[in-house]
Amino acid sequence: MGKQTTPEAPKEDVWRHAIERAKLGLWDWDLRTDHCYYSASWFEMLGYAEGELAQTSDLWLNLTHPDDRERAIRSGEGHLSGAVSNIETELRLRHKCGSWIWVLDRGGVIEWDSEGRPVRAVGVQTDITRQKEIEGELAQANEQNRLALEASGLGSWHFDVDTQLSFWDTRTREIFGLEPDAGVVPRGTWQNFLHPEDKQRAEREHNLPLTTHLPSKVSYRITRRDGTVRHVETLCIFLQVSGTSGRLVGTTRDTTDEVEEQRKLALAASQDSLTGLLNRSAFGVELSKKISCAGSEPFALYYIDLDYFKALNDSQGHAAGDAALKQIAASFREAFPKALLARLGGDEFAVALALSDAEPSRAAGTMLGAVRQVTQLGVGAYHPLGASIGVAVIASEKIEPADALARADDASYAAKSGGRNRWMLERDISQGSGLTAGRLVANLAIAMDEGRVQLFGQEIRSLDQPEVPTGRVEVLARLVSPAGKLISPAEFIPAAERFGMAAVLDRHIIRLALKQIGNRPGGSLEITLGINLSAHTLSDPLLWEFVELSAGESGASLRHLVFEITETAALTNVEAAERFVRKAREKGCRVSLDDFGAGMSSFSYLRRFPVDSIKIDGSFIENIATSQFDREVVRSICGIGKSLGLVVVAERIEHLETLPILADLGVSLGQGFAMHRPEPLDQLLGRISPYPPGGPGCDRNRKY
Ligand code: C2E
Ligand code: CA
Ligand code: CA
Repeated sequence: MGKQTTPEAPKEDVWRHAIERAKLGLWDWDLRTDHCYYSASWFEMLGYAEGELAQTSDLWLNLTHPDDRERAIRSGEGHLSGAVSNIETELRLRHKCGSWIWVLDRGGVIEWDSEGRPVRAVGVQTDITRQKEIEGELAQANEQNRLALEASGLGSWHFDVDTQLSFWDTRTREIFGLEPDAGVVPRGTWQNFLHPEDKQRAEREHNLPLTTHLPSKVSYRITRRDGTVRHVETLCIFLQVSGTSGRLVGTTRDTTDEVEEQRKLALAASQDSLTGLLNRSAFGVELSKKISCAGSEPFALYYIDLDYFKALNDSQGHAAGDAALKQIAASFREAFPKALLARLGGDEFAVALALSDAEPSRAAGTMLGAVRQVTQLGVGAYHPLGASIGVAVIASEKIEPADALARADDASYAAKSGGRNRWMLERDISQGSGLTAGRLVANLAIAMDEGRVQLFGQEIRSLDQPEVPTGRVEVLARLVSPAGKLISPAEFIPAAERFGMAAVLDRHIIRLALKQIGNRPGGSLEITLGINLSAHTLSDPLLWEFVELSAGESGASLRHLVFEITETAALTNVEAAERFVRKAREKGCRVSLDDFGAGMSSFSYLRRFPVDSIKIDGSFIENIATSQFDREVVRSICGIGKSLGLVVVAERIEHLETLPILADLGVSLGQGFAMHRPEPLDQLLGRISPYPPGGPGCDRNRKY
């Protein structure tokens, strides 16, 4: 081992060099002579040449900023008196150019006399202007951040990985409902606030930056100590802090109001504003969710189409209509709290209800009852509301919501054509043609084109002489399927009405009927053809133009036509019906009110429609022999008819025995299988009104 030598301390001027190089301003004060030496670097620091200023002991103090003098003097005195071990102070000195530079003054006594009085002190002043500037900038940035945080309502916090302590600012504490002082919060505070449903996700997202070092943002709910639930959004980043394991730094925002606002907006967008039920598009979304679990939880889909709603709206005003819709919605909601309820628009509702919650027949019955109830409560006293309900059972995930709804909708139309105010299960409908409404209508359009819409006719006879043709015939449409099967109008007329094709169909039939008459000038019996009209046709403004054109084309006179309009169609649009009847009269046609009595409404409106005849609805005739009630209804209808000078016709007479009963009650004309079954119209006309001897050619000039 070599001999250890202590290195020699450098000479004093070596220190000086080092200090000059380091640009430290050195001062050296002799307290006995009060002489002070300032190094060349000190002068240089202030922009002076060495010796440019007199080196007095108070030179530095004279250059010190007035605001800093007091503090600087105190620091020196405190040290000289022995109270503090060092002089250490920050002060500003005036630079030669007039600006202020910040220096850190550090020093102390290095020599004392024999009595312990300080005789020499030395120190250095370091230029810290740049550092001060940075500190100032930082302070300003901090202040700006603080202001921004305050203005945005953001809370800020950090979590120290090493100590596992969290620091929350005032706002963060406020958001969590804590006393608003800033500081460290006990461990687990945040976790304890987390809503159980959001806890896992919030913790996971929150800690993500610790491992990924990427920022993360998470929204979650907290339950405050008073039990209120708030929505919170946290943004956090990982911050590396040298010498530590780093910290999570973040902001917290209370988003409760926003979330609530969004919820309201979403609700408004998904709701039917009148009834508060789901609207069509929102129902579609919810329905598809329900369908996705239909395998394990089958449900029934109800399509509810109100009957006679338009009549209520027209007769009682829209306010009454709205009130009825609202009330129906309210009763549905009450009756089926677990169901998905929607108003699809207009007077159509939809309900999706788990089979385990209600049997379709009972649920549909409840719905029908709820709709009827509305009238009983006086909202629609003029005409009882009803509903045609279609039910589709959905037990598979493999169906599109639109198709599910279409199936229920088809069933609802089947219910409507089956006589309204009833419900029908989807699987019950395909007994007729087996075609859905949509396909029927598509077929119908082609059928009209291809001449597959055929006219049948049923004779209307006098009850006194049921075997004798009168020349009065009701025209009944038949759709011939491509395979030659006859499809009943009871099936395709409602479909045509629904798809807006009814008026087209009526025109088609009017033209065909007029052609039949035009083809048969000079038959032996004067013929009138009863043409059934749909509600749409009643308000068709161009109808009469069309009728006259068709009559012109076929050479037939309009006095052969009797238009049958149903009581419900007339009441659905009273003004249009009135206008229609007036116009028909003008043109020499007659008008009959069909299905009379079925609507069960007051007969007072009859005065507004000067029709020629009323046809009592078949439902009153079927059981006339056994039902006292039906007989009374028929008797009163006949009484009214007589007093208004109208011909009263009975339809659906199936038994000859009922003829005398009906005649007794005052009915003069009738139709039904008992007297005549509908047959192809041309065949019927050929039979009852053959050409007189000589043939049609002999009688071409006959006027009707
Ligand atoms: P509606 O006007 O009440 O016609 C009478 C219906 O009763 C006809 O049914 C007829 O065949 C049937 N019928 C006749 N006698 C009897 C009977 O003794 N017993 C029974 N049970 N039924 C009888 P259809 O032809 O099926 O017509 C049904 C409905 O379709 C008609 O009822 C009418 O509202 C409508 N309709 C028929 N043809 C047309 C048409 O060309 N245009 C329009 N818009 N509707 C039509
Ligand atoms: Ca009819
Ligand atoms: Ca009828």
